[in-house]
Amino acid sequence: MSNPTSTSSAATSFLGIDALFNNPLFAGGIGLAGLGAAAALARRSAIQGAGLLKRRLIVNLEISKQDDSYQWILAWLSLPRPPGGFIASKLTRIHHLSMKTTSRSAQNRPAHAHFFLQPGYGRHIIRHKNAYISVNREKQASANLNTGEPFETVTLTTLYAHRHIFEDIFAEAHQLAVSAQEGKTIMYTSRGMEWAQFGEARRKRPLHSVILDRGIKERILDDVKDFMSRQQWYVDRGIPYRRGYLLYGPPGSGKSSFIQALAGELDFGVAIINLSERGITDDKLAHLMTRLPPRSILLLEDADAAFMNRKQVEADGYSGATVTFSGLLNALDGVAAGEERIAFLTTNHIDRLDEALIRPGRVDMTVRIGEATRYQAAEMWDRFYGDIDKDGNGRQRFLKRLEELGLVASIDGDTKKKNLHTSTAAIQGLFLFNKDDMDGAIEMAEGLIPRIYEP
Ligand code: ADP
Repeated sequence: MSNPTSTSSAATSFLGIDALFNNPLFAGGIGLAGLGAAAALARRSAIQGAGLLKRRLIVNLEISKQDDSYQWILAWLSLPRPPGGFIASKLTRIHHLSMKTTSRSAQNRPAHAHFFLQPGYGRHIIRHKNAYISVNREKQASANLNTGEPFETVTLTTLYAHRHIFEDIFAEAHQLAVSAQEGKTIMYTSRGMEWAQFGEARRKRPLHSVILDRGIKERILDDVKDFMSRQQWYVDRGIPYRRGYLLYGPPGSGKSSFIQALAGELDFGVAIINLSERGITDDKLAHLMTRLPPRSILLLEDADAAFMNRKQVEADGYSGATVTFSGLLNALDGVAAGEERIAFLTTNHIDRLDEALIRPGRVDMTVRIGEATRYQAAEMWDRFYGDIDKDGNGRQRFLKRLEELGLVASIDGDTKKKNLHTSTAAIQGLFLFNKDDMDGAIEMAEGLIPRIYEP
């Protein structure tokens, strides 16, 4: 009988395996391979271990550009911070900054530009209180289809033990944003299908700086305040909580200025859509109106444009890339996202508007903001020259001159006797030209006569 051991040893020796293992070169190779495998294994477990440790010890917080807090955090990050020790002074100043410029141009004024330094793209390390925080600002490959802008994120990373620092940072950043906008009015315009802040927040325009005819401001302001105090009344009756105002009158009578001042008074922003602008289609209008920025007055400028378009549609069956009348009505009646909606429509051409607009929730109050009256001319005079015209003699002479020119009535409130009209914008222009010079303003008053150009 053959011995199995001897058989196997016979087999191995037949295959020459013994010989192989006895070969020092081969044995060395195996040893090296084994070591390599062990090293790879160790490396993998080290990576896994580090990953686990990282997950355990580190917290990430990602903020996308879509979120309101994105801009607050960028503003907070760009604050100068005092160096805290050697490492801190080496690490914690953001050295890579990017520039954000906003410019605003106003009628008859050169453009103003404002520069903000923000942390640039990439990774930065900052120290806040006792925690070191890594900040990674990244642009994503994909873009927001509505605006065409690439998505962006800022990721804050810190040790798990310091995670509460995030609440602290957000509270500070929010406070910073609030105080930067205190006493300011934010204006929004549409960018693509989204709302975007238009320039910097503007200093609030005081309501008393807009001079409308006697009692008009108070009438509108009282109505808006009454509306704002009646939310429950609307909810109880199942009525959409909306109010609309139509301001009409010639250009330069203070319609836009009044709406901006009113927004400031109420601590609201103003979300503006110009209906005569090309590219504002029915769909876009409806979409924008369902997503109004919170706490903002909706201002639809040049409302008559939609009525003109109706005529065009009727004539040639094509409305082009502008809003149609039915599009405007649908948008006004559509589901509003916010709690309340206060809408102002403005037009220089009331004759072009349609009755269908005057419905509760669409337009509840229609007010004419007209040419300058005697009352307004007197009030504006006081605003500009009140401190040098102590006895009111200059104002009397100015009003007399306007009467002679046929620009205002001889008695306050009598509008019939006027045969010519001038705008409050023109009076403001005259006074601005003659700062501190009452006589100059009176002498040049003739310039207020509107020029009529014959084609
Ligand atoms: P509108 O919207 O009626 O065309 P704006 O409000 O744009 O008029 O006014 C144009 C300019 O004239 C602004 O600079 C504004 O300050 C000034 N202005 C016009 N009307 C008044 C007014 N009633 N009170 C104060 N400023 C006025």
